[in-house]
Amino acid sequence: MTRPLPAPADIEAALAAAWKVGKARCADGKVAAYIPELARVDPSLFGLAIHTVDGQSYSHGDAQHPFTLQSASKVFSLSAVVAASGEKVFDHMSVEPSGDAFFSIVKLEEEKGQPRNPYINAGAILTSSHLQGATADAKIDRFRTFLGQSSGLGAGAFPVNEDVFRSEADTGHRNRALAEIMRHHGTIPDVEVAVETYFRQCATSCTAESLARLSLYLVNNGRDPLTGKRVLAPASNHGIVALMATSGMYDEVGSHAIEVGLPSKSSVSGAVLAIAPGRMAIAGFGPALGQKGNSIGAMKALGVLAARLELSVYR
Ligand code: GLN
Repeated sequence: MTRPLPAPADIEAALAAAWKVGKARCADGKVAAYIPELARVDPSLFGLAIHTVDGQSYSHGDAQHPFTLQSASKVFSLSAVVAASGEKVFDHMSVEPSGDAFFSIVKLEEEKGQPRNPYINAGAILTSSHLQGATADAKIDRFRTFLGQSSGLGAGAFPVNEDVFRSEADTGHRNRALAEIMRHHGTIPDVEVAVETYFRQCATSCTAESLARLSLYLVNNGRDPLTGKRVLAPASNHGIVALMATSGMYDEVGSHAIEVGLPSKSSVSGAVLAIAPGRMAIAGFGPALGQKGNSIGAMKALGVLAARLELSVYR
């Protein structure tokens, strides 16, 4: 059933109310410190952006403040890989929730180098290794070209933050360990190429505004409603969005489903991207994180928006 979009005045009022609630909660969280460069970010930043399928856009607060995609990049690397080569990335990866933290090694070891899903680090590193190109540079060019074309904003809207890249490359030992386990099991061919690509894609910058704009194809069955470009076949888009609902918020996916009810993807940089199918993409950015590594302010704000605009897919 297609549901109508809320009236613009209702969206604006809900956005302002949601921003206020989310902003107040930022004081309860902490910025990610395990990537040293992320520890320098101001925890009081808070922005919200909405893009609707009919081309309207709305924002509040720090919606133009740049931040790195981090785990939100996983949705787009998977989209780029599936768009170019179909579903074969799933030959060595399952589609089930992990119930563990995003960086966990336990199940990867038990399950012989097969990641549980593409939105935990192991699955995302495997996906990065499937981006087209022989080198990390070539793969990142593909990735950024994909972002630029899918959003209609051009690759220049998504630059790699070299300081954040270097900071994670110097300290990302656990991600290297995940890649080594997969190399051992023959799941990925080259550890260095895979992790460098993964760290660079995580260090690719966006804003809440550009992230919401980029995500419109996910809202609209795989076709960007503004440029008309088909990014993904409908069945592939359905799977990529469904995986956001089951695995996009790590081990907080259950409470997020109850409180918000939208397929979402979080990142340690403080983004939470939420998809209201057929209607709108919402991006929240608040670097203060809760215990499970998800933005406290963005999750709360999404709860307010979903309730006021009746967005939950489970209603
Ligand atoms: N680059 C980060 C990491 O691998 C991404 C994690 C995240 O955003 N949850 O640890």
